[in-house]
Amino acid sequence: MISYSRSTKTPTGFLFLVTVGMLYFLAAGCAKDSTIEVQKTSEILAFIASDQHKGRHAFSPEIKVVEAYIANEFKKAGLKKLPTYKSFQQDFTISEYQIRDVRGTINGTFIQEDHLFGRVYSDSLRWTSKNTAYYQVQTLGPTDSFRGRFNELSRSTDATLVFVHSSHSDIFRRYQQYYSRPSRTLKTVNTDVVFVLVPDGFQANEDIYDLQIYTEKKQFTLANVTGQIHGRRSDEIVLFSAHHDHIGIRTAVEADSIANGANDNGSGVTAIIQLAHYFASLPTPERSIYFATFTAEEMGGYGSEYFSKQLNPDQIVAMFNIEMIGKPAVSGPNSAWITGYERSSFGQILSNSTPDSIYTFYPDPYPNQNLFFRSDNRTLARLGVPAHSISTTPIDVDQDYHQVSDEFDTINLNHLNSTIKAIARAAKSIISGADTPTRIDPETVN
Ligand SMILES: [Zn+2]
Repeated sequence: MISYSRSTKTPTGFLFLVTVGMLYFLAAGCAKDSTIEVQKTSEILAFIASDQHKGRHAFSPEIKVVEAYIANEFKKAGLKKLPTYKSFQQDFTISEYQIRDVRGTINGTFIQEDHLFGRVYSDSLRWTSKNTAYYQVQTLGPTDSFRGRFNELSRSTDATLVFVHSSHSDIFRRYQQYYSRPSRTLKTVNTDVVFVLVPDGFQANEDIYDLQIYTEKKQFTLANVTGQIHGRRSDEIVLFSAHHDHIGIRTAVEADSIANGANDNGSGVTAIIQLAHYFASLPTPERSIYFATFTAEEMGGYGSEYFSKQLNPDQIVAMFNIEMIGKPAVSGPNSAWITGYERSSFGQILSNSTPDSIYTFYPDPYPNQNLFFRSDNRTLARLGVPAHSISTTPIDVDQDYHQVSDEFDTINLNHLNSTIKAIARAAKSIISGADTPTRIDPETVN
């Protein structure tokens, strides 16, 4: 989960067959359910959260070992690769541009480096008062709201140069600090937006300027891990997902500097692996089941963003995004909550799915934390998918969240295992086609 910084009909004549079918289902289901064993859950999590992976930062070499491990588990489970893929790993490239050098003049006076910030997605850029055909010029005047204008201009789809009045210099510097980080992108075409603090009396259409920016570009190859079980309805997909990256190395606390991410989100990845083995051991499902572990969730969700563009999101019937299920919820050990519960009927279906079970699913008890928007489900929800995160972590009081103390030893393995089983049970009516969650309205997900 990312930090704060920035949703039949049954003819009676068939009752006999249905009953026989249910008996078969119960017999097979109960026997197979036991394949989700706490011992195996423990082994998977111990590996994923071990110190050797150095906190699974998306840009680190160590994360590759974890990706290979997950891919091997998918293979052992008997999953198939996604259509058009030759590997369980879904590789993609992310580009990172950092502004390194600014050269420029306004009316012959050099522009100081701390009078400029922006997003530039090319090796270099040169904008002058003579070549305004390549970009639009905007101004942020003394009576404008800096935040309001900034929010509007920074979303511009045209290359934009913004001249900022000097009265905004204090807030300009705060935004500059934030924007001194590299600009990252999956895309090849992007919109450059540059903000320049200008002297009093500057007139964009009269004064002469010449602005040159040089960037340093880095590229990283990242990987999601994906696999599937073919269903009879191959164009209806039930997706199980969890992010496998974490935040890497942090400031040392008592000589420990590795943020192991056992709960965030080793617990979710453990669930995906166990669910893959479990569902693959059952007869051919009605709907196809996709399993995905995403990279770079902690860096802004680039893995799920890439994934969402490799398939038709209209075919995804439901997304079970599993986030931090290694510690019991405040409401008790046999319960899990669902983010964005009211945004589709997904949560209600899960709540209704286990009337005979002691395990319950209920709405996210921390609406003020905006958790619906803080994991990979958001990317798919924006495309209309009933995409929700399932979690159990007491996030308001958890001392280990995004700390080096998020270790294997802090995980309640019995709770983790029973939560994986409960998710497996709760998903059955959607996988069988008996239930179909309503879609999320993309307009309500920013
Ligand atoms: Zn996190």
